[in-house]
Order: sequence, then C-alpha cells, then structure tokens
Amino acid sequence: MVATVDFEVRKVAQSRISEVDFAHLPFGKFFSDHMFVADFVDGQWQQAQIRPYDYIRMTPANAALHYGQSIFEGLKAYKSNTGDVFIFRPHENFKRFNASALRMNMPQVPEEFFVGGMAELVNLDRNWVPKEEKSSLYIRPFMFATDEFIGVRPSDTYRFIIFSCPVGAYYNVPVRVKIEDHYTRAANGGTGTAKCAGNYAASLYPAQLAQKQGFQQLLWTDAKEHKYIEESGTMNVMFVIDGTLVTAPVSGTILDGVTRKSVLDIARDWGMKVEERRISVEELIGASEKGKLQEAFGTGTAATIANISEIGYQDQVYTLPAIENRVFSPKVLKELEDIRRGNKPDTRGWCFAV
Ligand SMILES: *Cc1c(COP(=O)(O)O)cnc(C)c1O
Repeated sequence: MVATVDFEVRKVAQSRISEVDFAHLPFGKFFSDHMFVADFVDGQWQQAQIRPYDYIRMTPANAALHYGQSIFEGLKAYKSNTGDVFIFRPHENFKRFNASALRMNMPQVPEEFFVGGMAELVNLDRNWVPKEEKSSLYIRPFMFATDEFIGVRPSDTYRFIIFSCPVGAYYNVPVRVKIEDHYTRAANGGTGTAKCAGNYAASLYPAQLAQKQGFQQLLWTDAKEHKYIEESGTMNVMFVIDGTLVTAPVSGTILDGVTRKSVLDIARDWGMKVEERRISVEELIGASEKGKLQEAFGTGTAATIANISEIGYQDQVYTLPAIENRVFSPKVLKELEDIRRGNKPDTRGWCFAV
C-alpha cells in the first residue's frame, strides 16, 4: 500500500505531543514532531530525509521570497474508530501539485516523495492523528525556490517539505459572502489553476475590504466581465437551484478542488442532477428572488463544506434558506465524514491506508 522507499529518518529525542490539548485544537498552530525534506540540486532530487520539525535557515536573497516561486497543497489524514489511519485521496493532490509546479516553472516531485514520503511521515507521527470526531491531521506539502540570487529567472534549486498539524472541528458557522465585481482572483491564462502562494497573497486585500463591510468571504467572479461566479474565497462554490447541483466548470481560472470533485461524484451517485457550467450573477440573484436558490456552500479540504447564509451584491443582500432547511449539504458532509472515518465502505478507493 505504501511505496517502500528508504528515507533517512532522524527521530525526535522527545515528542512534543504532550503539549497539545487535543480537545481544543486551533487550526494550523501545532505541528507534529517530524517533517519530510528533500532538496532539488544539480537537476535532480537528492536523498530525502524525515527529521524533527524545526526552523529552516534561509538567505535573504532567497528567490522564492522575492519572486514567488512557491506552491503548496493541503490534505488530511483521518483516524477510524478502529485506529486505522487514512489519507484522503493523496494521489489527487500529488497530480495537482505537479500541475502547479509545471505552471510555476518548478521541477516535478516524484510520487515516492509526495505520497510515499507523506505516508511514512504520517505513519511515524500517527499518534498526532486525532481520534476525536471532526478532528484530523492536516498535511501541508509545499515547494519553494532556494537559489541565492535576485536576478529574475527560474531558480535552479528547490526545497520540498511536508509537515502536518492536528486540527479540530472547523468553525462551521454559515458565512455571508459578497460578490466581488472589481477585484479578480484569476484571469484566463493566469495562475488561477495553480495552488501557488501568490494567488493567496493577491486575495487578502479584497477579502479584507469585504470583511470591513460585514462579509466573511468573497464570491469571485470572472476577470473579464465580473458576470460569472467562480469560487468562494479559497474554496470552490456550489449551489442547489431547484433541486439541481450547479457549480462552475474547471476552466483556466478555477482551482480543481478534490472536495469539489468528491462532492460531485457523490451527488451523481445519488442520482442528483449535476451541472458543471457557467453560472451568472444574474441567474443566481434571479433564482434567489424566485425562491429557487435552496443552498449555497463552499467546498475545500479545511472546512469540507462551508454553508453560505447571505449573498451581498451591490448594496443588496440576498438571504438564503435557513441551514436547518437544507438537505444536500449536511447529507454530503456526513457521507464524506463516514467514508473518511471508515464508517462506510470506501467503494471509490478514496482512503489511502497508512
Ligand atoms: C485549495 C483550493 C480549493 C479547494 O481545493 P480542495 O482540494 O478541495 O481542498 C479551492 N479553491 C482554491 C483557490 C484553492 O486554493
């Protein structure tokens, strides 16, 4: 099941796990004992290492800091009631990581590192995978340029790291979102389909402006006309309109989310009508006014499902049906939880045993 590659493993002298209160886990603040590290030098990956999680030394002239050759992934490991540990669909993240690497002119990472190294790392830190319901181990693989050079060109050297953090239940309060009709997350031909650091940096200012207006998130629209809905914050976004599940197609500007894909697969298997197509702001507002917009929610690894309670557009606020009256999003959330926890048979081969 796990690729057998021998990595050099240096274990911590003393685990830090007793410092962590697993009943009250914040997101992304506690890091497991070990990390996986590999360097790309002289045109090839060097011997990889698993070693204690620690600071890394960096030159001020590090190319990634200046020009942003930096990509990442986010995925989760879960513990079943019987103590088995599964990583959810790591090969999907692996493929996406290398697609991001290609777009940012960075080297491809071998599967033995991304999936094999990850499996070995999670296995070594398996005590860090929370068993509490709704908690999980968030895994963060990333790669950045390491050349000590501030001329603009692709770096010759890179570092690939995987670390992990135990995380608790996501604050699943429904969010108010604002349709953004000025700023843009991604344009055709740009980097919107890559999970690169710069995309996030560019989204922070518009998101903060929306927060000042009382919204928690943005609904991004297309760069050209600001007419079509693309994503919600750092999540994909879906709507249930008159019983049909509708979401933007994976085009050149949408990040191809694993949660998105999984939700669509489940909906189709349930016989629900699913449409991957462009959805205009006008259509969305029209559906809301006619009472046909039944559900709206974001999908992503961190929250799985983030329900949307209200949508703001140019001085108007459109209120969606109460969460208690929603059918699909709670049902699909439970289905995903059940699959990940091993409470239901994993008929699609989504759970990768560690
Ligand atoms: C990571 C990400 C998503 C969600 O992808 P998942 O694989 O479901 O976690 C959606 N949109 C953006 C912009 C992202 O960066």
